[in-house]
Amino acid sequence: MEKVIKPCSNMSAALNRMARGEKHGLWLAYARQHLKGCPRCQQAFDAIVSLLNLVQEARTAPEPETLDGHRWEAIEQTIRRAETPPE
Ligand SMILES: [Zn+2]
Repeated sequence: MEKVIKPCSNMSAALNRMARGEKHGLWLAYARQHLKGCPRCQQAFDAIVSLLNLVQEARTAPEPETLDGHRWEAIEQTIRRAETPPE
């Protein structure tokens, strides 16, 4: 069972925004200060950052091998057949 890291209440939205690189606003300034003194929120913040990095990696990963032309043709034919109403 994976451990769920819960930040302090009311902090999770600010942590999410900070993890996405947002820097402005009084609320985020407060959150940054809080983070320095709160291991629980720091842990949650690190978890959010690494999760976002994983998502980013998945987005920038090279395209998986695509189906070759013959397969596409077969798939398209099947779709066309399925879409054509019987006469
Ligand atoms: Zn906290």
